[in-house]
Amino acid sequence: MKKLEDFADDISKCSKCGLCQSVCPVYKITGNDCAVSRGKFVMLSGILKGDLKLSKTINKYLDLCLRCGKCSDFCPSSIDVCKIFAQAKHEYVKNTLFGKFQFFLQSELVFGNFLKLFKRKQDKKQNGGKLRLVYFKGCVNNIFPNNFIKKIPDAELIEKDFDCCGIPFLSSGNLQRYELAKKRNMELLNPEDIVLTDCASCESTLKSYYDDNSPNFINLGELVVKQNMKFRFKKTLKVTFHKPCHLKNDDFLIPLLNNCENIDYVKSENYDDCCGFAGEFALKNPRISKEISIKKAENILKTNADIVITTCPACVIGLKCALRGKNIKVMSLARFLSEAVIVSE
Ligand code: SF4
Ligand code: SF4
Repeated sequence: MKKLEDFADDISKCSKCGLCQSVCPVYKITGNDCAVSRGKFVMLSGILKGDLKLSKTINKYLDLCLRCGKCSDFCPSSIDVCKIFAQAKHEYVKNTLFGKFQFFLQSELVFGNFLKLFKRKQDKKQNGGKLRLVYFKGCVNNIFPNNFIKKIPDAELIEKDFDCCGIPFLSSGNLQRYELAKKRNMELLNPEDIVLTDCASCESTLKSYYDDNSPNFINLGELVVKQNMKFRFKKTLKVTFHKPCHLKNDDFLIPLLNNCENIDYVKSENYDDCCGFAGEFALKNPRISKEISIKKAENILKTNADIVITTCPACVIGLKCALRGKNIKVMSLARFLSEAVIVSE
């Protein structure tokens, strides 16, 4: 298990240029430098020098992060910010009563057995076809499954007994549990596999396991386009899209919507801005989460769309909260496509 000291070189790479401020959703709301990576790195440098101690206050600032990765994508020093924050958080919370209780809830005994209640199909093949896909369903899709995925033509879906991808454990600083999930999932995957995901957060976490020998990944949107599926909706609908922070590439969107009869797409302003939910973040920082989600909702509502589609179950929850009572539906891509008739393959 690594220690914070092992990240000293990465932390020292921060030039304090402040470019991360321009993209950080939390900084944009709070204006607080401790909310963004630059300020957090100042604190972590102080800890490494022995001038500061990991404390409740510093942990509070570590919690002021959506793990959206926007600062890393923008950082001229290419610092893997979220990895460092997870390490610092781990070193603080592992010794607290709350941390110990949270780690117990995330253990195999509690969370693992809870998930088993929903995993009905494991090591099982479905459909049958030319394209052999290992389907990483993800925790939320295990609990709330959608059968659309089984309708994909010429694809053989193989489900295995995967663990959670581990992203909730990283958010909590539960690095032992994350490493266990990573090890288990990697043991079930081979470099020649094509891994299908329909959750942007699972996809990005799984990809982050690998330095080399990575399997190939394909997400639901990319697969639908690859299989040239065409859809017809009963009535004309206006749709917009929320791009989840963890979805790095949404090139599938326009070709997919072009294959949907009776669908008008309207791009919303700042469609890739964070929805503000991010699981634990919303629980720990409800006011800031709400402010971020209000801005998001305003931009979505300006499109006058009937439906907002997204590809991350956490964003579905966040958007549903933000748009409660409004005349717009929030749907996962799988749910949206399952509303249509498949007209050709
Ligand atoms: S963009 Fe990167 S180098 Fe610049 S202040 Fe932020 S973390 Fe540091
Ligand atoms: S990961 Fe996102 S929320 Fe966290 S510091 Fe970076 S930009 Fe801000």
